[in-house]
Amino acid sequence: MKIFVVNAGSSSLKYQLIDMENEQVLCKGLCERIGVTGAISHKAADGRTYSAETAMPTHSEAFEAVVYAMTKSDAKVIDSFDEVSAIGHRIVQGGSIFKGSCLITPKALQDIDDLGALAPLHNPAHVLAIKACIKTFGEEKPQVAVFDTSFHQTMPSKAYMFALPYKYYEQYGVRKYGAHGTSHWFVSDRVAAIEGKDKKDLKIITCHLGNGCSITAIKDGVCIDTSMGFTPLDGFMMGTRTGTLDPSALTFIAEKENLSPADINRICNKESGVLGVSGVSNDNRDVAAAAEKGNERAQLAIDMQRYQILKFVGSYIAAMNGVDAIAFTGGIGENDAELREYVCENLAYIGAEMDKEKNKVRGEEIKISTDNSKVNIYIIPTNEELAIARDTLAIISE
Ligand code: ADP
Repeated sequence: MKIFVVNAGSSSLKYQLIDMENEQVLCKGLCERIGVTGAISHKAADGRTYSAETAMPTHSEAFEAVVYAMTKSDAKVIDSFDEVSAIGHRIVQGGSIFKGSCLITPKALQDIDDLGALAPLHNPAHVLAIKACIKTFGEEKPQVAVFDTSFHQTMPSKAYMFALPYKYYEQYGVRKYGAHGTSHWFVSDRVAAIEGKDKKDLKIITCHLGNGCSITAIKDGVCIDTSMGFTPLDGFMMGTRTGTLDPSALTFIAEKENLSPADINRICNKESGVLGVSGVSNDNRDVAAAAEKGNERAQLAIDMQRYQILKFVGSYIAAMNGVDAIAFTGGIGENDAELREYVCENLAYIGAEMDKEKNKVRGEEIKISTDNSKVNIYIIPTNEELAIARDTLAIISE
């Protein structure tokens, strides 16, 4: 059984074909500049590659290029798309409607479209991709939606509500939805599997630290709180995003510089965070290198981000009245040994103890706390595509 996993943006489309017999990736690729010019780069698991510049006025032509790459090119991996059992789509915003993954029916497609108000950069693009799939692969090919938000739908209202006038929640659905849900779900499942325990019996904190960053508290097997909010801007400092800050700082700057809401959105999402403070880069590796050479703002950016991560971890320990396991994932979480050491050292008060040798390991699933540690600390490389493929298989098997 083969599952085609799609992560579509407005002008790009990432895909993987996964053989569910052994959960191996058969090929992966990327279509770019959809709607402008069009290009595909495709790689089979054995290393063969195919790339081409080909007109992609819409997502339909992009999918046709993917089908060619997978079935006919020098890097083909199947004879026909008929071998593909279903398509699993990553969907950014499921609002309060979608509590889990679902088969994409006309009603579900309409709901995903309507939720575009909450995710204007993402949901409309997902809808275009789903419609293009119907056109390219036919209505019979099952399509499943897997939402970034659904893992967080178990949060209690005291965690997801903002202390704004209640009418904004009622009228516009303004509340915390969270993001990276598929990753937090995958990683917390792995923690429970490694621990050999039922997830319901564990208090877990998962730290997804990449370009976007979020931390989630999982108790009784479900998410009880997460750092991202109404949008993925909330939480703590990221590559280019502010994370939480006093909103009146923004109204103050807006008045001083005569900025519109769109300007504020741009500044907070694209020009802030590690990039905004350091003035160097949004990539932690560049910023760390600059700090090493004595750049004080670069060092400040690193110190701020680490401190904010620590505070979120600490607040979730308080929210759960303890923690059994903490897992790090994402580009920063998997690679930045100093960050993990800093967090662990500052959790000595709850008996956390790091094995410094194991903490040097990169990109591998490993327990990095000592056997004496009261909290088990892990590096767990995330695999959102596999999680989407697994859920897609589960939904079509129902
Ligand atoms: P995305 O959120 O786009 O999937 P990733 O999870 O790949 O991103 O994370 C990308 C980030 O990981 C980079 O911006 C970089 O800051 C960080 N990163 C990668 N390698 C290292 C490293 N060795 N040390 C510190 N940070 C790293």
